[in-house]
Amino acid sequence: MSVTPSETPRRLTGLAYFGRAVCGLLLDTALPPLCACRQPVGGSGGLCASCWSKVSFIAPPYCERLGIPFAYDPGPGILSMEAIADPPAYERARAAVRFDDVARDLVHALKYGDRLDLATTMGQWMARAGREVLGEADALVPVPLHWRRLWARRFNQAAVLAKVIAETCGVPVSHAIKRVRATAQQVGLSRAERAANVQGAFRVPAGGEAAVHGRRLVLIDDVLTSGATIDTCARALLRAGAASVDVLVFARVVAAVRTPI
Ligand SMILES: [Zn+2]
Repeated sequence: MSVTPSETPRRLTGLAYFGRAVCGLLLDTALPPLCACRQPVGGSGGLCASCWSKVSFIAPPYCERLGIPFAYDPGPGILSMEAIADPPAYERARAAVRFDDVARDLVHALKYGDRLDLATTMGQWMARAGREVLGEADALVPVPLHWRRLWARRFNQAAVLAKVIAETCGVPVSHAIKRVRATAQQVGLSRAERAANVQGAFRVPAGGEAAVHGRRLVLIDDVLTSGATIDTCARALLRAGAASVDVLVFARVVAAVRTPI
């Protein structure tokens, strides 16, 4: 078969494309892993040096109840204004980092970029931040996705993080609550709208009370924003007889550093 001049470039292009694809595949396996920001990972923990330097870890002093950082140490057991004015259903919340640009990149890479490898670092940071609540816990309960979202994403990021924490601290994972109603995304909703959106969305399934009754549980999620979702989950677990419910998230939204009252 003869090749006309007009066909040659197209075939070469096809061949070049094939070559590039093969090279890309080889490079993918040969190159070091990428950070959530797509830069090569420099040090340990799956992050590049620049992202590492920008991670904003949450450490005491913070509100005993909500885990919101304080500007100075007011002494043990002091609560934030939010915790007194609008106490949550759960006992204590702890978070590894503040939700900022770096935290957002990590959460998005895990959730939407299939970067499940990042869960190891993120889960280990959570295990460290939550040492206090994990030390008293009977089980970790990941905040569930609705089955339709789970089907589309193929994994629940909260369950992936819970698995890493379980491996780190030895507290087992219990899928004790189910999302019985699909909810709209919470992004862009007001505080009241968020609460209404998730009302009644979670339930301990019939026959699942034994895994909850009298047990000290820690809800696990990636991000704590208004707390409406977590609070609804905590209420469902407490209604089913949980002895206590604490919360451990990867990142929490912190408006500003609070002055304790
Ligand atoms: Zn980076």
